[in-house]
Amino acid sequence: MIRSPGRLLGRIAGIPVHAHWTTALIGAFVWYILATSILPGTEARGTDGALMLLAVLGTAAFLGSILAHELAHAVVARRFGLGVESVSLELLGGIARLDRDPRRPREALGIAAAGPLASIALGAIGIGLTFGLAAVAAPTPLRTLALWLGGANLVLGVFNLLPGLPLDGGRILQALLWGRSGDEHRATVTAARAGRVVGYGLMGYGAAGLFGATPGGLWTLFLGWFIQAAAGAELHNARAMAAVAGVRVGDVMSSPVTCVQDHLTLTALTTELPARLHSTYPVQAFSGRISGMVTIEHLRTPNGVDPDSVSVREVMTPASQLTWATPDEPLVDVLRRAEPTSLGRIFVGHEADLKGLVTPTDLQRAARFAALLRAGRTSATVADPAPSTPVEPTGAGIR
Ligand SMILES: [Zn+2]
Repeated sequence: MIRSPGRLLGRIAGIPVHAHWTTALIGAFVWYILATSILPGTEARGTDGALMLLAVLGTAAFLGSILAHELAHAVVARRFGLGVESVSLELLGGIARLDRDPRRPREALGIAAAGPLASIALGAIGIGLTFGLAAVAAPTPLRTLALWLGGANLVLGVFNLLPGLPLDGGRILQALLWGRSGDEHRATVTAARAGRVVGYGLMGYGAAGLFGATPGGLWTLFLGWFIQAAAGAELHNARAMAAVAGVRVGDVMSSPVTCVQDHLTLTALTTELPARLHSTYPVQAFSGRISGMVTIEHLRTPNGVDPDSVSVREVMTPASQLTWATPDEPLVDVLRRAEPTSLGRIFVGHEADLKGLVTPTDLQRAARFAALLRAGRTSATVADPAPSTPVEPTGAGIR
């Protein structure tokens, strides 16, 4: 997945607008079909040069309308008090990055619906403009462009309303289910399952298109594959969240924690590791403060590097890149804001006073216990299998 928002283009209503380099691919593709088939397809009155220029304007208007869709999400999110980190254009359209997830179904519904509504409104404007241009007998390519832009926005709006995560329609479905049942994570699980169905459906439609059975094709196949994969990731996260809902960090942390000194060489550390049996070690500076973390993964030295000459300090993840929490914080909240650099580990307390550590193993155990409690202590079966891998922090973003 594309993680960086790309180059900063400027700000609209105070919201930073970025474009990933892959936007250029979409731009080139749209320009190409406009210039070679859509615009000349009508009885062209302009010269070739004028058509090329019109195709450039059309491409800009198309990318601008994707931006408008994302800005609609962002503006509504801001009205509900969420922070908007950026809005960016990329290969698969756009994404609005928010500083957190919505806390109420009403917020989730408003933010999700704003994008498709903006696209449908732009679609209606495009169609209206087509009639207006016809009334004043504007040149045909101009009318064709307005009609194409209107149609593209309508398709964008309606496509995004397909009811499965990660599409806006899936977020709307999730918000409605959440509002009705009050269980946010169960609602996400259902909407993510629906997303997989939508993804597989699109893949089937695209595959049939390759044989000429439908107007679909390779792009629909790819889009379907992307949607089912993203829905799968959402499903995994939602299941993990549902499993630990109501659990506090202090309930699941391992304590006390074995720390290692930052001046140790990797050789010294590896020779001591087998007796210690942990995959994660907080690293302590000479002052006693926690300065970072080493995991088994950190101990692999590149070829040609002598592990005797490298200290723990040189390979560790620094404390500033770790996820820190207090013991009474709900686990779900911490998982949502977890730093990817913390590799699924949560540090409890602060640098001068480490109270405990939550590792992926602790999370799995917590999820199993929570499921047991929900199933009732008398029943030995666990209704909801615990997630086998920790939550992947995806960051709050909406397309
Ligand atoms: Zn959207």
